[in-house]
Amino acid sequence: MVPFRQFLLKIHSRCNLACDYCYVYESADQSWRDRPRFMDQDTVRRAAAHIAEHARTHSLTEVHVVLHGGEPLLVGAARLEELLGVLADALDGVAALRLTLQTNGLRLVEDPALLPVLARHGVRVGVSLDGTAATHDRHRRRPDGRGSHADVARALRLLTDGPYRALYAGVLCTIDLTADPVETYEALLEFSPPRLDLLLPHATWHTPPPGLPGRTTPPSRVPGAGPVEPVPYARWLCAVFDRWYEAPRRETGIRLFEEIVVLLLGGAARSEAVGLAPVDLVVVETDGTIEQADSLKVAYDGAPATGLDVFRHTFTDAARHEAFRARQRGRAGLAPVCAACPRAAVCGGGLYAHRYHPGAAPTPFAAPSVYCADLAVLVDHMADRLRQDVPRLRTAAQPVPR
Ligand code: SF4
Repeated sequence: MVPFRQFLLKIHSRCNLACDYCYVYESADQSWRDRPRFMDQDTVRRAAAHIAEHARTHSLTEVHVVLHGGEPLLVGAARLEELLGVLADALDGVAALRLTLQTNGLRLVEDPALLPVLARHGVRVGVSLDGTAATHDRHRRRPDGRGSHADVARALRLLTDGPYRALYAGVLCTIDLTADPVETYEALLEFSPPRLDLLLPHATWHTPPPGLPGRTTPPSRVPGAGPVEPVPYARWLCAVFDRWYEAPRRETGIRLFEEIVVLLLGGAARSEAVGLAPVDLVVVETDGTIEQADSLKVAYDGAPATGLDVFRHTFTDAARHEAFRARQRGRAGLAPVCAACPRAAVCGGGLYAHRYHPGAAPTPFAAPSVYCADLAVLVDHMADRLRQDVPRLRTAAQPVPR
């Protein structure tokens, strides 16, 4: 059993945007409809007490709590202050508490009371932004159809230009194939993100990725051993990788690339998106139910469910649950095609949710990622770049003979 180190609390289940690709509201799982709008203080207290107990039981020196939604800042400043106080009290003297919050940014502009609360509790803030105004507003719209880019840009300026700079964790961008990759990257750089997350749109073999409606049948052979298929997501990511890698100075960190580089060099990554590290993230919904990662909502209705909740179960109970154990088996948990793939240690079969195919056996997640062909090309491309550069680096690092 692998203990959890990341606890994602859904503190508000509704949103003030209506993004067309949202996996919470627009995918197969519709459980949000029956959930309370926000996590009440009793549920927060139960979750916080269980996090502390989990840290004690498993001798964790640090836990990472992610405040999420919906839009988490819809809870308002007073409720936010209260729940952060509950978390701080529960973890005091038990483990270091690392706090982050993922937001669409709009409430930061609308409510000036929020940033001081986040600053008092040291909550680092990630903001969702999809690139240029045109790309962002194509997807991330308000319920009345208006785009949100202008207000998100204002929120980012509050984080980057004022006294709250230390709170700024970075930007999360969902890839849109119709947008130019380098233009997208450079539009994100305008907000000087310390860290950038580039996300493949959530998709499965049952609900294929945007732009690839025919990608419905998992490969029976390792990529490269069969016919060549279009890999637009790899082309997009390779273009950004080259632009990022060749920059004369470090412009930002891009989590996906950094993790692949670490894995290619034989290190261990912490990401769910690549590599074979066991999952260590658990979700608590507004009603206290304990679930797996939100990305599974794209698979089928109820896919993230475990049947557990913070009123009757501990996080150790959850870590022992078969749903989590299935995602902690490393190479043994991969589809046969992935297990035979030379990129397996780096790619790791891709994000668990993206492997879903209703006909896969012995479980519907026993298929390679729906992005298999793209991941193969991206990993090979990055490996080629490193293969050229690492020997040069090693030569340059030789001690100068005296
Ligand atoms: S998903 Fe990744 S590990 Fe699996 S076959 Fe494709 S490239 Fe290889």
